[in-house]
Amino acid sequence: MVSLYIHIPFCQKKCHYCSFSSSVCGNEIFAPYVAALKQELADLAATREDRQLRSLFIGGGTPSVLPCSLMTGLIGDCLALFPPVPEVEITAEANPGTVDESYLRELLLAGVNRMSLGVQSFCDQELRVLGRIHDSNEALYVVQAAKNVGFKNLNLDLMYGLQGQTVEVWQATLQQALALCPQHLSIYQLTIESGTPFHQAVTNNSIILPEEEEILAMDEVIGRLCCDAGFRQYEISNFARPGYECTHNINYWQNGEYLACGASAVSCVAGVREKRVADPFAYIRRINKGVSVVEESECLSTEASFRESVIMGLRMTQGVPLLLLIARYNLDIVQYYGDILQKLIDVQLVELTDSHLRLTAKGRPLANWVMAELV
Ligand code: SF4
Repeated sequence: MVSLYIHIPFCQKKCHYCSFSSSVCGNEIFAPYVAALKQELADLAATREDRQLRSLFIGGGTPSVLPCSLMTGLIGDCLALFPPVPEVEITAEANPGTVDESYLRELLLAGVNRMSLGVQSFCDQELRVLGRIHDSNEALYVVQAAKNVGFKNLNLDLMYGLQGQTVEVWQATLQQALALCPQHLSIYQLTIESGTPFHQAVTNNSIILPEEEEILAMDEVIGRLCCDAGFRQYEISNFARPGYECTHNINYWQNGEYLACGASAVSCVAGVREKRVADPFAYIRRINKGVSVVEESECLSTEASFRESVIMGLRMTQGVPLLLLIARYNLDIVQYYGDILQKLIDVQLVELTDSHLRLTAKGRPLANWVMAELV
């Protein structure tokens, strides 16, 4: 079965913290870009025997900057080329400020059954500092609009650890999000990426981020409120009501195979990872000339793939299934890592059960450090 990612690399405006592959382009690129995507999808389908679609994720950028007819046409082509299984998960990302009820209804009719909304905060001051195009009223509107048209699986993206954010203000944002009764929350701590305006501002001390203790208090609020509201943390940044975990992303964390189309999109099939050219204009030109859009190709060794499975699997609350590692790679995790792993176990950052290796509650806030030890 197929997991497929389609990248839409356009945004209305670049947010101040964002290092994703997206840019602000004139609207005239949208139709040729979608035509190129359709061609890449058709070429991809022609090479595959197994085309049964288990999950489709249309992400960006801001996919919802595309005119509705282009989005629905793209989804239609995709589902014709990759016939969906009955329980298929089809996610589209959208930003408040770019969609209305009619747009959302068209997406639902086209087959999208999971909307992921980039809310980030319900505090207008924070949204302004982040450089988002929407305000809290638009965020409330878009969530309600998605529910009105009949979406039964909604994810809200939220961010914490923002400039000037207190634990109380963060709690108010999270409470507001939970009051809207989504099925899924993706909650990210702000990270400062080089090359962004925020990086410059932090370097100049013109923005000051919350202290470590405040971040830990915010983490505590997340754990408590999400648990009280019936959510289960199933990944470092992801919380879901039972049965609403994101199938598409779980496949990434389990280091499964995935197909991808679009500028800068990355696929991984049969141990080969391929990255497509990032510039959307170059992407269109190459497709139109019949030239490969793949710019980088990496053939992963068994050991590299094994280590990736460990690192990615540790992101999941349940951890890495040991038998799966043996079945896939014929490698035993204890023997492979030896003293490094024992040291992490001794300081109680990870624990080894009969079936899994996983982060402990103490290890979760230090996940990046633990993963760096095992990479
Ligand atoms: S909307 Fe998303 S992808 Fe676009 S600039 Fe903002 S954070 Fe980046």
